[in-house]
Amino acid sequence: MPLTRAARSASLSTRKARGKPPRTATPARVLPKRNRTARPTRPFHWVSPLLRVVDRGGNIGRSLVAAKAIRKGTLVLMMGGHIMTIEQHGRLPEPLRHYPTHVSDGLLIGRMSLGEPDEPGEFVNHSCDPNCGMQDQLSVVARRNIRAGDPITIDYAMCMTSAILNLACECREPGCRGRITGDDWKRRELQKRYKGSFVAYIERLIAGGRGHN
Ligand SMILES: [Zn+2]
Repeated sequence: MPLTRAARSASLSTRKARGKPPRTATPARVLPKRNRTARPTRPFHWVSPLLRVVDRGGNIGRSLVAAKAIRKGTLVLMMGGHIMTIEQHGRLPEPLRHYPTHVSDGLLIGRMSLGEPDEPGEFVNHSCDPNCGMQDQLSVVARRNIRAGDPITIDYAMCMTSAILNLACECREPGCRGRITGDDWKRRELQKRYKGSFVAYIERLIAGGRGHN
């Protein structure tokens, strides 16, 4: 026979008075079943208020651009996401495979589902002469002063080592490599030019003598 609300209340009061924890049918910390598979509803990335997203159309699409002039050394974006293994990365939906960043041997960070919100960092374009670089593991920092309206760019060699990265580059900067791959960080000229602007994981690989194509 179920207790009435008043009887249940009296029962709980009695247990409390005896110094015993109240008996509850469902532990308070257990989430309802429908929430156990809930996906993030907000992006993981932090984006500076100095930036805005602009749709540039054509092959480029949405890009992060400077809404105001930005000084060299300014933090403009902090990336984030799910930590995933190489195997999980290989099973990502094709449109998401180029975004995750290596954070350690065999581990990457990034978005894992098309059902999750777009991440601002996905709108940072590659350039072979980028105005930003990486710092620590997940920070994007201005490498030089940036004018209002300029797209925020990094060189994907600074943060990507994935074997499946293989894209044509149309940045049209002088010295454009023409193709971007996950092995570009191994190029001596890039290691020299971007020293201090690679993610920490790649900096460690370079310091350990890895690479040098
Ligand atoms: Zn290029």
